[in-house]
Order: sequence, then C-alpha cells, then structure tokens
Amino acid sequence: MSSSTLQLGRLTVTRSASRLVLAGRLDDAAPLSGLATTDLDRHLVIDTGGISFVNSIGIREWMRLLRTLHEAGIQVALENVADVLITQMNMIPDASGHAEIRSFHALYACEACGAESSPLIEVAPHRAELAAMRPPSVKCDECGGKMDLGDYPERYLSVFRKP
Ligand SMILES: [Zn+2]
Repeated sequence: MSSSTLQLGRLTVTRSASRLVLAGRLDDAAPLSGLATTDLDRHLVIDTGGISFVNSIGIREWMRLLRTLHEAGIQVALENVADVLITQMNMIPDASGHAEIRSFHALYACEACGAESSPLIEVAPHRAELAAMRPPSVKCDECGGKMDLGDYPERYLSVFRKP
C-alpha cells in the first residue's frame, strides 16, 4: 500500500502500510474503525501530533481502533501524541491500550518570561524520570530559561508510572 490521504469529517488521515498520521478534529464525524485494514504491517506507527480537538465519541472511536488493531496482532507505537490526547490517556487507561507511547506533547510554561509552548517530549531518554512522575525540563525558546510543565504531572505522566 502506498501513501494516500483521506478525509473523515474534519479529520485528515495520511496512511501507508506502516504509518497513520491523523490531523484535525477527532469527533463523532470521524469513524476510525475503517482504518484497521488487512493490508497494514505488523508494526504500525500512529502519529496524532496534528489533532487539535477530541470529544467523548472521538475517544471511543480511537479506543475501538486500538482494540481492533491489537486483536489483529498489530503492534502499535504512538508518536507525537497530541496534548489533547495524552491527557485523555492519563484519565482513561484504555485510551492508550496496548500501544507504546514514544513521544508526546505537553503544555510547558517558562517561569522567567511567562512564555507557553507545547514541546515534544521523547519517552525513551526520560523513561526513569517519567516513571517517577518528574517532568523533564525544557529550554525556553523565548529567553533560554528553564520551562516547567504547566499543569499537574498526573495529567500527563500517570500513564508512565511504574506499577
Ligand atoms: Zn522564557
């Protein structure tokens, strides 16, 4: 399967056999279950960095997609998980299911200059900190100062906590 783009309501999906890229709104106009096609590779990356909005029906569709892929024996890795989605995953365990989270966006704020941004946090180099619920610090683009997570660590890091 070569790369192609399709529109599900206000969600844009770019798909190949090994990668799905989702951008836009994940809501009741975006039936995701059709994305679990039989021509996918055994290892699939899903990139949700472009998702700007999710509602409860969108999350249900998302969980159904992950479940269907898992049942089909496909190992899913999540990259660039959007802020609106990682916070859902921290509230609803099934929202990440059996998928491996490789990187995610989180709201950060700079104490020195007040700038806010949503940097990408890579999981592998910070695994121990994340498991201990310590958000890694990030350098501020505006002033070079130290940015800290702009919310409770539980909202972003519970999903990495060691059982
Ligand atoms: Zn700053």
